[in-house]
Amino acid sequence: MKYVLTLIFSLILAHSQALLPHPTSVLTTDSATVRQNKQSAESYQNTKLDASYQEQAQIAISHYPELKGVSIEFVRKNIKTTMASRPTFDFIFRKKKNRRYRIYIDTQVKNGQGLLLSDVPHDAQVGVIGHELAHIVDYENKTTMGVVLTGIGYLFHPLRRKLEHKVDEITIAHGLGHQVKEFSEYVLQDDRVSEKYKKYKRKIYYKPKQLSTLMSGYSIYQDSKL
Ligand SMILES: [Zn+2]
Repeated sequence: MKYVLTLIFSLILAHSQALLPHPTSVLTTDSATVRQNKQSAESYQNTKLDASYQEQAQIAISHYPELKGVSIEFVRKNIKTTMASRPTFDFIFRKKKNRRYRIYIDTQVKNGQGLLLSDVPHDAQVGVIGHELAHIVDYENKTTMGVVLTGIGYLFHPLRRKLEHKVDEITIAHGLGHQVKEFSEYVLQDDRVSEKYKKYKRKIYYKPKQLSTLMSGYSIYQDSKL
C-alpha cells in the first residue's frame, strides 16, 4: 500500500512539474517570449502587479499555477529588506479563501541593509519575486492560527531560518532555482551591501552553493548547468 501511494504521489508530482515552465539558467526576454508570459499571466485575475516590474512578475508567477485566483497586490513601501510578503491584517477575520496578500517592494535602503529591487539584474529580480510568491504558497497552506504562529516564529532567528529555507525549497521546486541563486550571489558580492547584512543573509538563507546542491536533487534541473 505504501509503495502504491508513493507511486501515485510521484506521478502527481511529475505531472504538476510538467505543467510548470522549464527551469533555465538565463531567462529569454525576446518580444515573443515576453508576449507569451504576459498572456499566461493574464489568467491570474486577482493580481495587481507593479508597473515597473510587470514583466519580471509575469515570468515569476507563471511558475505558480496554484496561485491563480489568489488576491495578490504589489505595493511599494519603506521596509527593511528588498521585498517581503504577508497577508493583509484582516486575515484574522477572513476565511482562508478570501485572504488577500501584499508583496512589498522596498523604496529606501539604510545602512547597507540589502539592495533595492531596481539595483539587481533582471533575472535576480525574477528570483526574489519568485521567492516572495513561494511565501504566499506557504501561507496558503496554513490556517489562520498557522499564519499567526509563522509571524511570531519569524522574530526568532532559528525559526526564521527554517522558514526561509523552506521557502527557497518551494521556489526551487517551482523551477526558479537559478534566478533565486542569482539574487543571492548578487547580494553577497555587491559592495553597497554592508558586511553585517551579508553575514545575516548567510546565516538565515541558503548560500548559492547550497541552492545548487538542492537543485541537483530535482530532475527538472538535470539538463541545466548548476
Ligand atoms: Zn523570504
